[in-house]
Amino acid sequence: MLEIGTQTHPLPHQDALYVLLHRNQVLVEQDNLFLIPFTHFQPNSKMSAIYCGQWQGQDVFVCRFESVPKGFTEVGLRELLFLQDQDHYLLLSRAHQLSTWDRDHQFCGRCGTPMQEKHIAEHTKICPTCNLRHYPRISPCIIVSICKDDHILLARGLHAPKGKFSNIAGFVEAGETLEQAVAREVREEVGLEITNIRYVDSQPWSFPHQLMVGFFADYVAGEITPAPGEIDEANWYHIDDLPHIPNSATISGQLITHHIAHINNKK
Ligand SMILES: [Zn+2]
Repeated sequence: MLEIGTQTHPLPHQDALYVLLHRNQVLVEQDNLFLIPFTHFQPNSKMSAIYCGQWQGQDVFVCRFESVPKGFTEVGLRELLFLQDQDHYLLLSRAHQLSTWDRDHQFCGRCGTPMQEKHIAEHTKICPTCNLRHYPRISPCIIVSICKDDHILLARGLHAPKGKFSNIAGFVEAGETLEQAVAREVREEVGLEITNIRYVDSQPWSFPHQLMVGFFADYVAGEITPAPGEIDEANWYHIDDLPHIPNSATISGQLITHHIAHINNKK
């Protein structure tokens, strides 16, 4: 597991491992290995390395390249994440999110001064003019599996391929609790009232910086009414007869599988 720790961030060094990015792609060696020793690539002067933490006693940094260095292949972040176990998934998510934050927060949002200073032991940028602090951006997003007896609700978003269904999900609004966000999204997207909203699990989702917070809920009332412009279709599916559901590496796939087991256990 990656240890984030509270120690002073080290400078990049030769004994560390590096996650190398090019645009939104990850640079890999043979067998899709993405933790790269320093001696396997040529650092360049424009490259900024961000400290991610310690992995099995070794420091890990993430760097962005402007072109693909020799000997490396590019793999899409999503594709690579789906191949990982939980620990590697979290490491790669963290590296990508920190690097994206660094790239996209070069200037102070209040006064426009280039952000130059960094906190020595935190991922914090401090504006040298007005002292405003910028932290890595994390956007909470709820996702919920809803059951009605031995059926679960699955919906297909407007841009999802035909036949590919998932849970109801959406961003948490400012000033809203997670449970309020769950109830509101379900009401807005499919017109249903739910109860017994309970937390199940969470997963970082680096597209670009969501933290997916997964819930179960029970149906109370209402007829399915898909929100125009958002949901193409939504239906109750018997747990023994589901359509195509998301990959089991995603929290959506995991919530559905977990919910089915939960419903079966109650029978
Ligand atoms: Zn400022």
